[in-house]
Amino acid sequence: MKHHAPPAPLTDRFGRIVTYLRLSVTDRCDLRCTYCMAEKMSFLPRSDLLTLEELERLSVAFIKRGVRKIRITGGEPLVRKGIVALFRNLGAHLGKGLDELTLTTNATQLERYAADLAATGVHRVNISLDSHIPEMFEAITRRGSLDSVLRGIDAAQAAGLKVKLNTVALKHANAGEIPDLVAWAHARGIDITLIEVMPLGETGEDRFDQYIPLPMIRDHLEKRFTLDDLPVRDDLGGPSRYAQVRETGGRIGFISPLTNNFCAGCNRVRVTCTGTIYMCLGQDDHVDLREIMRASPGDDAPLDAALDRALGAKPERHDFVIREPGASPALPRHMSLTGG
Ligand code: SAM
Ligand code: SF4
Repeated sequence: MKHHAPPAPLTDRFGRIVTYLRLSVTDRCDLRCTYCMAEKMSFLPRSDLLTLEELERLSVAFIKRGVRKIRITGGEPLVRKGIVALFRNLGAHLGKGLDELTLTTNATQLERYAADLAATGVHRVNISLDSHIPEMFEAITRRGSLDSVLRGIDAAQAAGLKVKLNTVALKHANAGEIPDLVAWAHARGIDITLIEVMPLGETGEDRFDQYIPLPMIRDHLEKRFTLDDLPVRDDLGGPSRYAQVRETGGRIGFISPLTNNFCAGCNRVRVTCTGTIYMCLGQDDHVDLREIMRASPGDDAPLDAALDRALGAKPERHDFVIREPGASPALPRHMSLTGG
């Protein structure tokens, strides 16, 4: 009998092993958050998108190369037609190579999908919520209604999903509300991660105007709460630093790509909804996997070789900087394309 060596893990030039895939399944969204999209967005033609079958094939190729966690994102993943089928098919790999399947969502449709997602093996969901005040929520998302999101959060918790909130700190919008939002989330047993706005894509808004460094938000939080820093978990490979709030028992994560560089432990890559792999959120290095997959329908060897090529080009670190008022974005692509 012929023995095949197990496929080698995805290792880059700096010895980092990629075990985490963030996969965008659509660039579309039902909201237009001011820091993420322009008011008038032109979306990709549907024929450019990977089909659900291609998204699955690609994910399985990553699992075979040692990816243990997949996060489905977008755009808004729950606006992609048939998305539950993708979750179901990927959920079948849980415990067989895949440790975790999860998603990031704005939760506007979660009321409808929470139970189905839980049934596919999803245990946790990251929900993006920048305000719990209806008018502020509508101003930031340009067209959303807070109510649908709150119902989505309730449905997720009722379905047994562990919910974490992601909140982008915006100087002239939600910055002052964040301590209240933290108290509100913790009262529901929900941890919250605060994120600095990143210079990705034209949105019709000035980043300099939106940007507020998280250390300032933390100072503000410490006027009301006692924050105990939790040890940095290198094994998580993530960019968050966590603190526990003594008064609530809940946790706050801080993601500060602009004031902190977290690249040394990076274990992730991102794939867009068109099948382009980006090795770093903050750099432009990328490899197109879609044409490679389409050119070799029954054979994943070329795809595997492309993954090695991509990993060989993973940059050492990002170099985000928001320089001055009116500066153009560091990278022209929107977060909704690469997935947050
Ligand atoms: N639509 C889903 C959602 O909002 O959760 C998933 C995609 S969204 C692009 C993923 C995350 O990226 C969200 O938490 C969003 O707040 C964040 N995001 C989008 N643009 C950003 C930017 N320019 N800077 C920082 N975070 C951003
Ligand atoms: Fe849509 Fe998420 Fe971007 Fe908001 S952050 S516009 S919800 S993709």
